[in-house]
Amino acid sequence: MPEVDRRAAARAAVAKRRARAEVKRSLARGERTPSDVAAVAFADSQAVEASIRITEFLKSLPAIGATKLEPLLQRLGVSPVKRLGGLGKHQRTALMAFLRDYQSRRGITDRPQLVVLAGPAGVGKGTVAARILESFPFVHLSVSATTRSPRPGESDGVNYYFVDEDEFDALITSDQLLEWATVHKTHRYGTPRRPVETALEDGRPVLLEIDIQGARQVKLAMPEARLVFLLPPSWDELVRRLVTRATESPEDQARRLETATQELAAQHEFDVRVVNDDVTRAAELVVDLMGINKESYA
Ligand code: 5GP
Repeated sequence: MPEVDRRAAARAAVAKRRARAEVKRSLARGERTPSDVAAVAFADSQAVEASIRITEFLKSLPAIGATKLEPLLQRLGVSPVKRLGGLGKHQRTALMAFLRDYQSRRGITDRPQLVVLAGPAGVGKGTVAARILESFPFVHLSVSATTRSPRPGESDGVNYYFVDEDEFDALITSDQLLEWATVHKTHRYGTPRRPVETALEDGRPVLLEIDIQGARQVKLAMPEARLVFLLPPSWDELVRRLVTRATESPEDQARRLETATQELAAQHEFDVRVVNDDVTRAAELVVDLMGINKESYA
């Protein structure tokens, strides 16, 4: 390996170790719940949470010492050398069930999260959001304001609040938007602030399905927001999905592909990346990331 690469790799390894230590500290201090750390590790194999060893993870939990560790690993059927991201399907289910039980015994509840679901056009954000709403209707899905016209089948107040340019200007100047952006270089879209705040005050998890420029603004305004980037299984699959969407002209499609290229490049700014290879699976991962305990609604 050339010297510069070696130094870069060493720096990256140090940064990752520090990040892992920070996650473990936040667990020990109770700033993050164990199920939340596991949710991130299971959703995104690149996340620092995924690289934490199961033994280190469990030892960071208050009241789990060295003596409890071995029998617990045996019960979960997990080898001590495993990292969270390397657990198999059944091991993940077993660990999550253990963590839920551990948390409920200790009176620890997950905080409902504000999750921003972003990703390139055609990746299936709408489908994943709809699937989440179907199973968990108490999730507040933000309805955006937009200056674009309704498409067939869309209605005002349901899909969007359809407003004209002057009305959109008024929303901006009266500070009623949490974020707004011009998307695909054409129309403006924005998230009404008040309904989001009200839902969070009521303890409801909130889902925003917005573009990347908007996601960045939300993170600045509310650093506790969790930015989730939905990825296509592959670039070819994304192109196929975009081209088979019949609603747009070839010019629109070309513009969307250009935007998609730029958007994919921004994925590393996000907290968690979720691959949408299967809608049910992607929706379940996002539900866990929203702090929803699925079992208590089963
Ligand atoms: P469409 O016109 O196809 O409904 O949406 C186009 C794009 O606008 C999508 O990528 C969607 O994520 C984004 N979008 C929708 N609502 C908002 C919003 O409130 N804010 C921002 N920044 N983007 C939005």
